Amino acid sequence: MSGHTPDSQKIVSEKLMKNKKIKCSYCGKEMKPEEKDFTNNPFTPFCSERCKLADLDKWFNGEYSIEQSIEELTPEQLADLPDENP
Ligand SMILES: [Zn+2]
Repeated sequence: MSGHTPDSQKIVSEKLMKNKKIKCSYCGKEMKPEEKDFTNNPFTPFCSERCKLADLDKWFNGEYSIEQSIEELTPEQLADLPDENP
């Protein structure tokens, strides 16, 4: 016997989840899991639909320019990109 069963692991992770404060990725507002079932929150990791949409807006406005070079590639160039190292 190793001493830790799946059950005790589950209890520990549940405690961690309860103690963990989730912050909205947009406005930084703390979401307390015990107040709001954030696992069922369709706006995760945002506190509300408003923040989710506002964040999406940022993306569309180009504030985040991650992988911009990829988007500029033509389909042919994309197909040419190596998927995996041999
Ligand atoms: Zn928010």
